Amino acid sequence: MEERIQAAARRAGRERHDITLVAVTKKFSARTIREAYAAGLRVFGENYVQEFAGKRPELEGLPEAQFHFIGHLQSNKARLVLELFHTVQTVDSVKLLRRLDAMAAEMGRRLEAFFEVKLSGEESKTGADERDLAALCEAAAQLDNIRVLGLMTVPPWSEDAESSRPFFRRLAELARKHELAGLSMGMSNDFEVGIEEGATVVRVGTALFGARPKA
Ligand SMILES: *Cc1c(COP(=O)(O)O)cnc(C)c1O
Repeated sequence: MEERIQAAARRAGRERHDITLVAVTKKFSARTIREAYAAGLRVFGENYVQEFAGKRPELEGLPEAQFHFIGHLQSNKARLVLELFHTVQTVDSVKLLRRLDAMAAEMGRRLEAFFEVKLSGEESKTGADERDLAALCEAAAQLDNIRVLGLMTVPPWSEDAESSRPFFRRLAELARKHELAGLSMGMSNDFEVGIEEGATVVRVGTALFGARPKA
């Protein structure tokens, strides 16, 4: 994995340290996370609030671990998400943004966030419409407790990594337009294309840990 990330960065004329590998551990046990930490991974991505809440007590004593929420977030889970995660990559509405900010204020902490953008027409996908980004950015500028790092997207799944490239390119354009530096794009099947198109964050599960256990 490390070699593939470095090779993709070199191809794109980029520095390895500008790319964060988020190890996606949904459905894997706390033990797998601890082993990955021992192997040197530091940033972990989880999709399900309740599942992660169950594993969290077994993850004490990993001082440098950072947890990113990458699943669909309902506003009623905002408090729990703030208790469990450093970063939320899937903010897709002003309502959710404001709710997270208000909770963060109450809890005396700060949150880092990405706006999730839906660039395909797929019904099953979540994320903000790109036309809503201006409103999201304006709202974020008024808030004290959330720092928006960038944009995140999940293109339609395909065997062919190249089919993700236009979506990644579009996300990079949108980030430039809205003056956001972070780009979370690329999963097991297409993270190298993501890096070539400027990803600062790739989210990789299967290619690190194998097929997810059926939970
Ligand atoms: C599950 C998931 C990943 C990781 O997927 P893999 O194909 O296993 O690498 C990345 N991002 C999101 C949003 C996910 O839900």
